[in-house]
Amino acid sequence: MTAISQPESGIERTLFYGLQPALMVGVLTFWYFNREIPSVYPLAILAVQVILGVLEHRYPARRDWVQFWKEKSVLILLVIVLASATVTVGVWYDTVLAEPLAVLRAAAGLDIWPHTWPIMAQLFLVFFASEFIWYWFHRAEHRWSLVWKASGHGAHHSFKHLGAINFGANHPFEIFLLVLPAALVELLFGVGIAAAGSAVLTSTLASIAHANIRMNTRWIGFLFTTNRYHIRHHSAVLEESNTNYGCSAIIWDRLFGTFGDSEVVDSGIGPTEPTMWEKFLMPFREPRDSEIAPGGRVEEAS
Ligand SMILES: [Zn+2]
Repeated sequence: MTAISQPESGIERTLFYGLQPALMVGVLTFWYFNREIPSVYPLAILAVQVILGVLEHRYPARRDWVQFWKEKSVLILLVIVLASATVTVGVWYDTVLAEPLAVLRAAAGLDIWPHTWPIMAQLFLVFFASEFIWYWFHRAEHRWSLVWKASGHGAHHSFKHLGAINFGANHPFEIFLLVLPAALVELLFGVGIAAAGSAVLTSTLASIAHANIRMNTRWIGFLFTTNRYHIRHHSAVLEESNTNYGCSAIIWDRLFGTFGDSEVVDSGIGPTEPTMWEKFLMPFREPRDSEIAPGGRVEEAS
């Protein structure tokens, strides 16, 4: 059972209303003025993670979710290794998909990307298009047992304590699915540099979505995922977990009827958190007390 603290001090109220918009505007501005520099993505995400990580310790929404050094250091190491694998998979997609998708673009008359639009408008266009594909991938993971297992998505859901760093705590198998939506949009439409800005925004919003800090959800939460909505998706209750599939954009959940909003009591796949080894084995063996896996409790009962 987790109790959520209310914003009490002036600083907490400032964070409540200002943190998410400030981080979004901050990273987009940073990217815009440094977009030709290759290291702009890792620098922006590192800054977001450090800011959220420090604030989670000082102003946690759920005090029993605070990740102390031992838990945090394991997660940091895991995310660094997985981030390297993510870059490798992205390069591999570029290698194998660029040519066939360029051929398809020409053959199907898809040379329609608005390259003359302002760069920030292009960025939001590729962002919402990529998130549209991810929405259906993610919904499929929670709908079909085969996709749930093959992607190892349960490993991402298995953590009982969430923090901003959890945005990158995924099963290695899932990297292939996580990278694919943006690669498809970028390579099919020949997007260009706006796709890199979209990647910065996506990772920033995914970090915010897992953060253990109390933040406002109105206005910004109409289009973009907030941590209140995404933590509901991480609920250990199946009916709550099967909502809010958009990890960065929530608009697709609103349009396709999977949006949900309520405070969450407990996160995870069930009553207990699997060990790291059990998480790694989840594509092959679902933990016995898992309650949110597709084909599990509800289907058996009905
Ligand atoms: Zn999920």
